[in-house]
Amino acid sequence: MTNPSEIPAVATRLRAASPTWAAASAGARADVLLAWREALCARREPIVKALIADTGRKRISESEFDGALRRIDYWVERAPRLLEAASSGESATAPSVRYEHRLHPFGVVGIISPWNVPLLLSVIDALPALFAGCAVMLKPSEVTPRFAEPLNASVQAVGDLARVFAIVEGDGSVGEAMVDVADAVCFTGSTGTGRKVAMRAAARLIPAFLELGGKDPLIVLEDADMKRAVTAALRGSVLNTGQACQSIERVYVHETLYEPFVEALVADARRVKTSHGGEDGAHLGPFIDSRQAETVTAHLDDACAHGAVQHCGAVTQVADGAWCSPVVLTGVNHEMRIMREETFGPVIPVMPFASDTEAVRLANDSNYGLSAAVIGDEAHAMSIARQIHAGAVSVNDTGLTTMVSDVEKDSFNESGLGASRMGDRGLLRFLRKQSLLVQQGEALPIDAFREDVH
Ligand code: NAD
Repeated sequence: MTNPSEIPAVATRLRAASPTWAAASAGARADVLLAWREALCARREPIVKALIADTGRKRISESEFDGALRRIDYWVERAPRLLEAASSGESATAPSVRYEHRLHPFGVVGIISPWNVPLLLSVIDALPALFAGCAVMLKPSEVTPRFAEPLNASVQAVGDLARVFAIVEGDGSVGEAMVDVADAVCFTGSTGTGRKVAMRAAARLIPAFLELGGKDPLIVLEDADMKRAVTAALRGSVLNTGQACQSIERVYVHETLYEPFVEALVADARRVKTSHGGEDGAHLGPFIDSRQAETVTAHLDDACAHGAVQHCGAVTQVADGAWCSPVVLTGVNHEMRIMREETFGPVIPVMPFASDTEAVRLANDSNYGLSAAVIGDEAHAMSIARQIHAGAVSVNDTGLTTMVSDVEKDSFNESGLGASRMGDRGLLRFLRKQSLLVQQGEALPIDAFREDVH
């Protein structure tokens, strides 16, 4: 645990090293980050083991680690081109003025990450910030703290990186202390905490890039392929035990498909196994934070008390953790918590709709706007997708944002703030553009500004 009172000293150390890092060439920084890649690979086992111990998931922990390596490779290839973007020329509006643009990284970027994808959501912002020339202070979630130690060992193994990359540990009080000293903040977590971070950052007039919660809708149109719709709905809702910001949390199905869709979904959902009991071939691990089971149970209780029908699935809470097999609910409406608040569990509430207009209205009836999905004839689905108020809309699948790194997307409504973390802007947001302006003509005399009052 880092004491919050130690954070200013960490920032001072990083700030002292950051000018040298910022002045290094993009290639030199890439070399350091490739050396870190090797140091990470050398510690794959303890890092993955720590992730498994904290999350209860094996395959996802392994793929998180591999995903982190892919993020390094991605920025090694892309960052140099983006960092060459400095431009110069003559102003179109004042042709005697020549300009030169320079890119200035923020000094120290504070990165605060959540527990649901602990490693990947830590490096996803740290890497482009480092590639851009910023120093980084990272705080993983206190709910999944074990990987911080082997991760830190990998950073310490690369001297040039250790000077500009510090990993601190602790809860929200450490996060607050970071916001008080950083030059910019990247926060991934709940909308409630994100709002606090934004207000604290605003008091210091520093940028806060926020990636927050979601309540993603899926619309299944009358011309959808049923098998595709059921498969994508189930995977998109329950993968990672529903503990993913881009989980499908609301499904709207055209009334002509509604009954067969529910029947097929329930049949497939019943085949999904949890790892409770240690069975081989399980699909879903436990809740990472068992308090999550309480939220899911409260949402289910509220829905059922107001008339929802639970077709399958249940929360199982035992001494060593909590699991949830996929729950399919019908008879739901937008008065219920299950349709309004982020549930973050493998729960699939399904509602019928009669027209495209109604489907769009229901999908957009949310405080969130992270992502969404539409399944149907492609042209029809695209016309609906364009009307959805969310940062990314997958068509004919769900969760496509998890498969692409290069496609930019912003978060709408209360799902976030600031430029896309994906694509080129994921790096460019860490650079401020400075203009050097040269007057090549005569300096304008004071008479040019004479105020003739008559
Ligand atoms: P959380 O908001 O509880 O905590 C996130 C981080 O913030 C933790 O590291 C925590 O220690 C820190 N923190 C807590 N209080 C703070 C404060 N006052 N100031 C600064 N930092 C503080 O979120 P969580 O429960 O860890 O994560 C789950 C949430 O994250 C869900 O809402 C999920 O949708 C969201 N999420 C969003 C994305 C995205 O890309 N939009 C990705 C993953 C998770």
